[in-house]
Amino acid sequence: MGWGFCKRLVAMLPILLVGGCGMLSFFGDDENGWRVQAEKRCLATGAVRANAYVQALSPINGRGACGVGNPFLVQASLRGDVWLDPGATLDCNMTAALDQWLAQAVQPAAYRHFGAPVIGAKVLGSYSCRSRNGQKGAKISEHAFANAIDIASFMLAGGRWVSLKPGWRGDADEQAFWREIHAAACERFFTVLGPNADSFHQDHLHLDLARHSRDGKYRYCK
Ligand SMILES: [Zn+2]
Repeated sequence: MGWGFCKRLVAMLPILLVGGCGMLSFFGDDENGWRVQAEKRCLATGAVRANAYVQALSPINGRGACGVGNPFLVQASLRGDVWLDPGATLDCNMTAALDQWLAQAVQPAAYRHFGAPVIGAKVLGSYSCRSRNGQKGAKISEHAFANAIDIASFMLAGGRWVSLKPGWRGDADEQAFWREIHAAACERFFTVLGPNADSFHQDHLHLDLARHSRDGKYRYCK
């Protein structure tokens, strides 16, 4: 091995480094690969079907990476039992996960702590082509793929509103209700952000189905 070979190796280093980083970012940003697959699987299960309250929309092709192939406009979850205000634009998996969380966690908690079911929810955000927390230069938000929803409050049958702010630090029943449904969300969504997360999440729960690890099992819950 002579000096010439060594020089050639040194000359190749930048190419190897750039190539290596390119591979890293390929795996890190392989957004559409897993998103498209996850959406296909969800649609095939029939977990979400259009009805009077859930309308299939045309594909959304937003700026840059933003968009979703098969969005739904969800005016109400649980076949009309829980209206959303405003209606949320969500993908198939989010629509199904929201239904499950409402049916299996939110309704039982509402009965337990308030003696009444939830009949509506105030939505602060669903599909939106933007970065995380709307911060310039931040990573693209799951909202940009219709893979996230922000919920601020619930209306109970009878008309009472329960809101994350001030409920999270409110009376005993409200505190218990919000902590219970927050914990239950952590079992069904992959990102759950509430008042303990940061200053952006004092008045709403952010729920999404992001893929944080390659096996898709890691959950971020705060
Ligand atoms: Zn959010």
